[in-house]
This record gives sequence, C-alpha cells and structure tokens, in this order.
Amino acid sequence: MGLFGGRKTVFVDADILVIGGGMAGCGATYESRYWGRDLKVVCVEKANIERSGAVAQGLYAINCYMGMRWDENQPEDHVRYARNDLMGLVREDLGYDIARHVDASVHLFEEWGLPMMKDPKTGRYQREGKWQIMIHGESYKPIVAEAARKAATEVYNRIMVTHLLMDSAKANRVGGAVGFNVRTGDYYVFRAKAVIIAAGGASHIFKPRAVGEGMGRTWYAPWSSASAYGLPIQVGAKMTQMENRIVLTRFKDGYGPVGAYFLHLKTYTENGYGEEYEKRWYDDTKALVGEYVDHHPVPTCLRNHALLKEVAAGRGPIRMVTKEAFQDPHKETVGWENFLGMTIGQAIVWASQNIDPKHINPELTTSEPYVMGSHATCSGAWASGPEDYAPAEYQWGYNRMMTVDGLFGAGDTIGGTAHKFSSGSFTEGRIAAKAAVKYIMEKGRDQPQLSEEEVRDLQKTIYQPMENYRVGRNEIVAGTVSPSYLLPIHGLQRLQKIMDEYVGGISSHYMTNDVLLNRGLELLGMLKEDMNRMGAEDLHQLQRVWELHHRLLAAESVTHHTLFRQETRWPGYYYRGDFMKLDDQNWHCFTVSRYDRNTGKFEMEKAPVYHIID
Ligand SMILES: Cc1cc2nc3c(=O)[nH]c(=O)nc-3n(C[C@H](O)[C@H](O)[C@H](O)COP(=O)(O)OP(=O)(O)OC[C@H]3O[C@@H](n4cnc5c(N)ncnc54)[C@H](O)[C@@H]3O)c2cc1C
Repeated sequence: MGLFGGRKTVFVDADILVIGGGMAGCGATYESRYWGRDLKVVCVEKANIERSGAVAQGLYAINCYMGMRWDENQPEDHVRYARNDLMGLVREDLGYDIARHVDASVHLFEEWGLPMMKDPKTGRYQREGKWQIMIHGESYKPIVAEAARKAATEVYNRIMVTHLLMDSAKANRVGGAVGFNVRTGDYYVFRAKAVIIAAGGASHIFKPRAVGEGMGRTWYAPWSSASAYGLPIQVGAKMTQMENRIVLTRFKDGYGPVGAYFLHLKTYTENGYGEEYEKRWYDDTKALVGEYVDHHPVPTCLRNHALLKEVAAGRGPIRMVTKEAFQDPHKETVGWENFLGMTIGQAIVWASQNIDPKHINPELTTSEPYVMGSHATCSGAWASGPEDYAPAEYQWGYNRMMTVDGLFGAGDTIGGTAHKFSSGSFTEGRIAAKAAVKYIMEKGRDQPQLSEEEVRDLQKTIYQPMENYRVGRNEIVAGTVSPSYLLPIHGLQRLQKIMDEYVGGISSHYMTNDVLLNRGLELLGMLKEDMNRMGAEDLHQLQRVWELHHRLLAAESVTHHTLFRQETRWPGYYYRGDFMKLDDQNWHCFTVSRYDRNTGKFEMEKAPVYHIID
C-alpha cells in the first residue's frame, strides 16, 4: 500500500472542537451544549471517552471540593492552600475561578449516579482530608463520559490529534486540527470556530524508575503524552511554569497513592531504622527556602526534600507505618479498597513481593518527574483570566483563552493553577466552554479558512514514518535497528535519558545546572533533527511517533524554563546546583515562553504574580 493508498480523508466542520475527552474535555463538551444550544460541538479523543485519561481506572477520592453549602471551606481558602503548596506562585484569579464553581460540578456527578461516601453522623460527604471527599469511584469516568456523549453533536473516538491548524485569513487565530484514526488510518481534518485543548499531562518525558519488564508502569497515565502542551506550543501559544515538574512520593514499584493512607488512616513515615526524620532536615531546608518551611501544611516539595536528604544520608529506605492502622479491620478494608478503586497494580505488586501492610511497613520512594497542570504543580498554557476577577494584565480576551485567538484550554493544559484535580479539571472545562461559546457569538461567527496546501502537506508529514519503515525495513534482515530509521521506542528512551541526566531526573537526584541544561538542549536538538527519520511499522507505532513529537516539544520547553529560572524554588521537585536557594527578590514571578516554529527558538520572559487574596 502506498503512502495514502486505501485511506480516506474525512472533513469535519464544527463550531467547537474539544480535543481530548478526559475530565476537562468531558466538562467542556457538556458545558458547550448548555450555552450553545444550536452549536455543533465535536469531541475528539485518541482512546475512547468511556475509559480514557488519567481517571480511566477510577478514583477513590475527589480531591477538590470546597463544601461551601456546609460552610466547610471557601474558595479563598483553597487559593491560599494552593499558593502555599506552590511556594507562593499560582494564578490566583484562575484558581479562585475554579474553586468558586467546583462544588456545583461535584453535585452534578452525584446527580448522574456517582456513589459518594457519606458521613453517617452528619450526612455530609465523607471527608478524607480538608479538600478531599471519598467516593466509590470505579465508574467515575464512564459516568462523566455519558454526560459528555449526550451533550456532544459527535464524539470521534480513536483519533490522535497531531497538529492544530491556523486560520489562513486571520493572523494568530486557530482554525482547527488534524489527526488520524489509530484503527483505520483515515486522515481527519477538523475545522472549528473555537478549539478547546484538554489533552492531559505528560508522563514518560523523564526516564521512569520502572524499566525493562516494568516499563509502562508510571504514576501518571502512560498515555498522557504531552499533547496538551505539544499542540499549543507548535502554534506559538505562550506557556508558563513549565519548569514546575512534579515528583511524587508514592509506594515503591506500584506508584500507589498515599493520600488516603496519610489523611484517612493516619499513617506516618519513618526511616529505615524506625526514626522520625523530617524534623532533622528543618534547618537545612530553612537555609534553602527561608520561612516557607514554617508554612502549614508543609509544601509537598519540601516533604520530598526531607525524604531525599534522609536517603542520601544513608538511612533509607523510607517506610510508611501501616502496621498500626491495619490492625483496625475498617482501616484495613479502606487501605485495600483505596487501591482496588484506582491503582490495582499496587495491590498486585505487594502480593508479588510478599508485602502485607498489616505485618510489613511498605517502602515509599520518589517518582520520576511529570509535567502537568492539574495536580500539585502548575505547568501549562498561559491563559486569560475571568473578567470579574483577573488583574488587567491577565486579561487579553476570553476566560481560559490562550495567547492564540479562539484557542482555549482546561485541566492539565492550563498553567498556574495547581490542585484542581479531577473535579477542578472538569470545572475548568466548563469554564472554558462557556467562554468559547461567548467568543463564537461575539467574534468568531465566521468559519476560519484553512490552507489546502497546509492540510495536504500535513497529511504527507503525518504518515511519512510508515513510508520510512516500509522502505527502510528492506535494509535489514533481522532485529529492530535500522541504519535509516529510528523506532518510537528508541526515540522515547533517548528523550528520557537526556531529560534524566541533564534536566534533573532520578539518576541525577533531581539536580541540574546551566551547563547541564545547555548540553541537554543541544542533545534535544539532535533528537529533533532525527525526528523526520522516524519509522512506524503500523498505526499503533505511528501514534507513538506523534506522541513522541509532543513529548519532545514539551521537554524542550521544560528545559528552557528550567534554565531561565535562576533559583531553586521547589527543592524536592528539582535543584539548580548553581542557584541552590529560593530567591524571592528576583524570581517571585511566573516564567513565560513562546516557541517560534519558523526559527525553532523559545523566547523567555517574566510575568508578575498578583496576590489578590490576602
Ligand atoms: C495516578 C493518579 C491519581 C490521581 N488521583 C486523583 C484523586 O484521587 N482525586 C482526584 O480528584 N484527582 C486525581 N488525579 C488527577 C486527575 O486524574 C486529573 O487532574 C484529571 O484527570 C486531569 O484532567 P484532564 O482532562 O486534563 O486530563 P485527562 O483526564 O487525563 O484527559 C486527557 C484526555 O486527552 C486524551 N488525549 C491525549 N492526547 C490526545 C491527542 N493527541 N488527541 C486526542 N486525544 C488526546 C487522552 O486520551 C485523555 O482522554 C489523579 C491522577 C493520577 C494520574
């Protein structure tokens, strides 16, 4: 079969195109219909929205719920909490906007059938922690997807979006997107008046701890392949805080979550000799970050820092003390159910390693870094804020619109707003959709014009790896190493090694400096040169190629941002060896980048942090 033989090209016109049908994408699709009754709302997803995204396997807790109807927390409290955890740097306007609406989203989930745990005494949602409520959440994603399916005009599953298209008639306006069906190979061209990117965060950019037979076992979903960043970066949308990668302390080897254990089961940690160790590192941490170490709760990165220091001092491994809590049959049940509802792999790893937490305190370790905007870090696109709340400098258009006209984002896509989690991501999708409908009504009624030439060129580019493989395969008789093409797994491992060794991954103990980062950029540049020599033996591998493209762009962005910020703001997430201290005087600001696809260069600038809430 030739390059295009047997494959159809499918053209789809839409008013709103939602890319990615995870939590934020489902929220965006649902809300687009609410405000845009007559609009054509299309959701495109590379898997199947029924079980796609980071919530695919289910969750045991909704991590962002204010409880305003019971006066448990107010939105301002959540902003203070996120600001504290991120060492002072969050977009308070965006965070407040999510917090004031998130409860309504959670109430919708309950209405749609999500089983919520209730406190038998008060009748309120069962709290796991100050912000978390407990759910029987195995079917969380199918429930949310059903609402999106009913709201959408069309859902296109199994289509990997590879590139955004720009309006050829209007400068800096988005026009749609292209991609391919990962099962049939058909080429899809979407034209849309507004595009909402909700394509999840980025795993597998840094070398993971689990390699060889364990490869693919990561904390964040392995299919979170950085499209949320790669797509907007390609078209010049500004990004922020890309250096703010996250490192998680999790149960060793299975990456099982620890939140329910700490918060609900009241477990605690100790070093290999059964000693408390966090206090031991107080002075050391204070010397790096000053008074931030005295904040309550202690910021996540600083707790990682104490753990890393203790292990480096030779007193590992760090263990979670579960033996006490698990003597209580109720707590034991909760401990296991916590995994069975969302990380079954951890229960299996424990079983395979003879670990019964009732009798053995399991080991904890820190993960490789991930890039994302919805968890305890806030990498992502630089977005316009809410009209009634954002400072003027943060408002250039519609709420959650990026610096490209008509291009919106939500969830992991949007930067500056940590701690939104599943419910906050869904809520942000709703916020973005409402603004996108307004944008269409006021400004974008006309369909964008697409360049036929660009659409044709992209078609050739997208499928070229299959042609590279078809031709190059003849040069070798066995094995997978070819003189003329690079397989996606090879490219991925090369990317991970560069990021790991030069940009602060696990093998360098999260340490980097300007020399390493500059060399890392050179090596990433060489990998980029080789990307047009990728070979794909089938459509599945073709998807891997395009995921790698997105990961590579995101990785370059992370490296530029890390180089730009000359301080160590989040010890425990990463360290700049040449600037080991937090420097509020010079770096109490956001880092913002813009990629120019014509020159391949990233331009960096600082943006002010406004503290709107006292
Ligand atoms: C291990 C783990 C545990 C978590 N625990 C909790 C918890 O206990 N409570 C909580 O509230 N939150 C939790 N979260 C966070 C929550 O899952 C995320 O905040 C949320 O899913 C982010 O929403 P999103 O829409 O941005 O990304 P996702 O939900 O991941 O959705 C992204 C979607 O985009 C699709 N996609 C990606 N690239 C493309 C492309 N190129 N073309 C088309 N489609 C594409 C993906 O297939 C996916 O469906 C957890 C996350 C993880 C990974």
